[in-house]
Parts: sequence; C-alpha cells; structure tokens
Amino acid sequence: MKLSWRTVLLWALPALVIGFFLWQGSFAATPMSMSRNTASTRMTYGRFLEYLETDRVVSVDLYDGGRTAIVEAVDPELDNRLQRLRVDLPGNSPEVVSKLRDAGISFDSHPARNDGAIWGLLGNLIFPILLIGGLFFLFRRSGNVPGGPGQAMNFGKSRARFQMEAKTGVMFDDVAGIEEAKEELQEVVTFLKKPERFTAVGARIPKGVLLVGPPGTGKTLLAKAIAGEAGVPFFSISGSEFVEMFVGVGASRVRDLFKKAKENAPCIIFIDEIDAVGRQRGAGIGGGNDEREQTLNQLLTEMDGFEGNTGIIVIAATNRPDVLDAALLRPGRFDRQITVDVPDIKGRLDVLKVHSRNKKLAPEISLEAIARRTPGFSGADLANLLNEAAILTARRRKEAITMLEIDDAVDRVIAGMEGTPLVDSKSKRLIAYHEIGHAIVGTLLKEHDPVQKVTLVPRGQARGLTWFTPNEEQSLISRAQILARITGALGGRAAEEVVFGDAEVTTGAGNDLQQVSNMARQMVTRFGMSDLGPLSLEGQSSEVFLGRDLMVRSEYSEEISARIDAQVRSIVEHCYDMARAYIRDNRTVIDRLVDLLIERETIDGEEFRRIVAEYTDIPEKEQYVPQI
Ligand code: ADP
Ligand code: ZN
Repeated sequence: MKLSWRTVLLWALPALVIGFFLWQGSFAATPMSMSRNTASTRMTYGRFLEYLETDRVVSVDLYDGGRTAIVEAVDPELDNRLQRLRVDLPGNSPEVVSKLRDAGISFDSHPARNDGAIWGLLGNLIFPILLIGGLFFLFRRSGNVPGGPGQAMNFGKSRARFQMEAKTGVMFDDVAGIEEAKEELQEVVTFLKKPERFTAVGARIPKGVLLVGPPGTGKTLLAKAIAGEAGVPFFSISGSEFVEMFVGVGASRVRDLFKKAKENAPCIIFIDEIDAVGRQRGAGIGGGNDEREQTLNQLLTEMDGFEGNTGIIVIAATNRPDVLDAALLRPGRFDRQITVDVPDIKGRLDVLKVHSRNKKLAPEISLEAIARRTPGFSGADLANLLNEAAILTARRRKEAITMLEIDDAVDRVIAGMEGTPLVDSKSKRLIAYHEIGHAIVGTLLKEHDPVQKVTLVPRGQARGLTWFTPNEEQSLISRAQILARITGALGGRAAEEVVFGDAEVTTGAGNDLQQVSNMARQMVTRFGMSDLGPLSLEGQSSEVFLGRDLMVRSEYSEEISARIDAQVRSIVEHCYDMARAYIRDNRTVIDRLVDLLIERETIDGEEFRRIVAEYTDIPEKEQYVPQI
C-alpha cells in the first residue's frame, strides 16, 4: 500500500494544530526566562509575606524585572524541609527588596534572558509557518490534475490525481518475454485504431481488460504500449489512491477520471492495483468499507455508462483476481482476463535484450548465461539488474559492463546491499558453521538444489548466505523436494546445535525456521502430503477483510486443527533429525570447510563439492537444463 503525501498531510495538520496549542499552553504557564529554573509549586503573595515575617524564607531569586520570585523556604510542618516555591509579586515591588534586606535574607535578581526570548518568538512562529506551508503544499498537490490550477481550491468536487500522458512513447517492442499477452492485446490496439472494422459487422468492442500477474512483470508497461501503438492518450491511477479516508472522494475521483477520459477519447484508462477498490463487497467484518464500496459502485456505473464504441478501453491490473468482486468480471466490464506471468528463460533473455539496448556490454557477456542464472526474476528485476550492473561499472570506472558487475548485481538484487564482513570472532565462526550447515545438507541431499556458493559477506539482513542454483522447472515440486528444502533450511540451526551445544544456538535461524514452518504447513494443508491424506484444508475464500487488512479464518474444526499441528511438527522434527545426523556424520569436512570459509569469506559451489567429495560420496543431482 502506498501512502500518499496528501494522506500524510491530512493527518499531520490536525496534529500540528493541536501541537501548537499544547506548546503555546506550556509556554504560557511559565515565564520564558525562568524555564530552566522552574519551581513546581506556587505560593500566594500574602503567604510569602507571612513566611517572611516568620523567618521561614532562606533565599529569594527575583526574575522578570522583579515580578516573579523563586523562594526557598523551610516548612516546619514538613520537618523543616527546604521547599522551592514560585511567587508572583504585585508589579515591581521595591518594598519587598527592602524587607528582604532588613531580614538579612540572601537575594539575587536575574535579568530576562535574551536568547530565551528569541527562541520563544521562534517557537511561537514555527507552528503557524508549518501550518501555512502545509496547507500551501496540500493545495498545490491537489491542483496537480490535467485541469490545471483552476481546481486548486476545489475540495469537495474533485481532487483527482490520475496521471495523463498524451504520448507514452512505449511500443510493443519495448515489452518482452510475455508474447501471448502481447498477441492478445494487439487486438485492442486495432479496436482503438480502426473501430469501424468491428462495428461494421456488429461486433461489440470490449470495454475492460484485466491483466493478472505478480508485480514487476510489465503490466503497466503493456498498457502503456497499447496506448503508444494506438497513438492515444494514457490515463492512469492506482486503486490504492481511490481509497481515501473521506467518504465520497474515491467515487468523485472515478467520475472525474471518466469525464476527462471521455473528453479525450479514444484513450486508455489504466487502473493499477484494482483489488484495492475491487474487493468483494460486504466481505469485511462489520459491513465492510463504505468508501471502497462507493468507489467500486461508481466504477461499475461508469463502465456501464459509456457505450462500447466510445473508444475508451479500461485496463486494470491485479495479482489477486480471486478477491475481486464478481460484478467487476461480468460481461461488459472486465470480461477479458490476460495473464502476465514471470518470464521463462527465453522470456528473460528477450527482456535482457530489450534492456541492454542502451547499455555498453563487454563482448564476453552472454545474456543467455544471465538468463540461466535468474529463474524467478520478473521483467522489473531484470531491468533493475542491468541498471545496477551499469551503476557498478560506472563506479569502478570501467568502459563496459563485465560479468563481474553482472554477478555482483544479481547478488544485490536478490539479497540486498553488501556489508562489511565480521572480524574473526566466535560469532563469525558460528555464522560460518551455520552456513556450511545449510550447504552440506543441501549438497548431500539428492533432491536439493546444488550449492552455488557460500559466503560470509553479509547482505541486506543476512549475516552470511548460502546460494543455491535453482532449477528452472519450478512449477511442479515433489514431496521429496520439499522435504529436502526443509531439511536444508534446518541445516544451519542443526550445525549450530551440534557444534556449539543447545545453549549456544542463536536467533540467526529465525528466517530459516519461518520458511520451514511455512513449507511444512503447506505440505499438510494445501498439497495433501501428510498422514492426513490428500486433502486441501485451505479454502480459496478463507480470508476476511478487516478494513484494509486481512485475517485468516480457519475453516476446519479444532480437532483437525490440532491434527494439522501434530503433522507439521512431526515433519519438522523428522527433517531436523536428518539434518543433525548429516552434520554429526560429516564433522571433519565441516570443520575444514569452516576454516576455509573464515579465511576466504566465499567458497564457490565447484570447490565446495570437490572438498566434500574427498570425504564422502555426493549424489548425482538432476538439474533440468532448459534449451533456449
Ligand atoms: P507491473 O505493472 O506489472 O508491476 P511494470 O510494468 O511497472 O510492472 O514494470 C516495471 C518496469 O520493469 C518497466 O518499466 C520495465 O522497465 C521493466 N519491465 C517489466 N516487465 C517487462 C517486460 N516484460 N519487458 C520489458 N521490460 C519490463
Ligand atoms: Zn540460515
């Protein structure tokens, strides 16, 4: 969920106003010049005179030109304890001074401090300035619509913040790796360019297309390419921007968007993250989100309202089509669904080709090799990868991107920024054992992906990392493969425990354990891979929306739930026993590998396997190597 600036400001302004009054209040309570010397208790002037006469006053400090005094006095009722009291004196009272002198009480007078006054002035000014600045900013932002500055102060009617691009400049050539989607959408371009061809034979031109796929796969890019190819304007807005805190704003935005679009037809309207508005109505606890429903209803009304042939095509994107309200998917609305998936190896190669067009690559670089190394990368990841490599190249003052930069960039895209390695210490040793634990279990299990490298160079959150070469064919995973992954993920903790003992295990395995429980639970509840039998225990609609959050509602009885837990535990325990056994049985080679890793920080997969093979047999792994 993106937090827009204006949302932040809308919340921040009331807070500022309240803060202003609170601050003012706190200053009013104490004279500015005394703010460092405050006595908490007040005493009346009359009482003060009484104290003076009964010789209880020890010392007096005068402030504010003699209008306020801080009095130190003893109180016989409180064991003669010394008290500091504040007294407001009636104006500039010289008789007090003479009284003090007569009584022989030590007193002093303090001038008002100037810097205090300046700070006070600033303090008094700063909130109004912030307030005015904030309001100014707010109005400027809301004026950011194609309509121009005339709408700046127009609160109720329209504060639409959709973007319009007259020319996107994106062509189908810029989109790669999603050929089927491109082909299907080719037709939409023809609808926009030559509608007569369809209307002449009585065909109804579709109004809405739903692009379904994970983030970064190029859905926005595709929509822009359609507009670019057809040479029509591109209007875009994100579903999350519709969902505002004021009821009615979202709906008025939708109305406005369609109004502008009609004025500019033929055109494309692109709604990103439509699931933010388009969730099933009435699905939330307590009747759902009124605002969202109003917005959704308005969207449906607008889509029904224009004739099929006005030349507006609405393209929406989501990665959760299952949560969308059925009304959205009815004929005449988003009745076309096009899947945009992460690219396969061939697709990745094509995306890499597109994004390397404007980059200098060293001749030895093989885009095929990069495509091979990056299963699961989306188009956006690949674009990001090449960009990171280019940045690294510039930073290293090289002429062209080499494989070295590519490798570093892949690591960075997957695991975040590189940190500085630890100095040799007990905890470095423990991390080394942890990583070698993952790597050795992964190497010795036939069904586990092979080790690509082990490193102690921290990246992102991780303090050390073991990289595996993932198999290209990831869509079907066998039970043995999942068990191997669980065991491999437990290898780190197992090594910590076997080598350092139960008491020394660390929090470093937290992430591993989370993955382990996820995998084990899914084996039981989704894939029917446990003793509970081939049952799917998780319905599609097991989520209840709580405003914008969601909560998982279990659909099974407590008894089943207890049995699921027992199954999950037994799977994990079994795998953990295996992992520990692998560590114990291979202690000699593990110790050697740990020493090597601490010395060198990184061991690559080839060398790792060569060393392990000196001690024990490594099973042959079946890696599916795709052809390009
Ligand atoms: P989505 O809308 O699916 O989240 P975007 O279209 O915003 O993804 O993709 C972000 C960026 O990633 C694009 O601007 C483009 O540079 C790159 N990209 C993503 N998919 C592709 C693709 N299939 N071909 C070329 N570039 C892509
Ligand atoms: Zn780990």
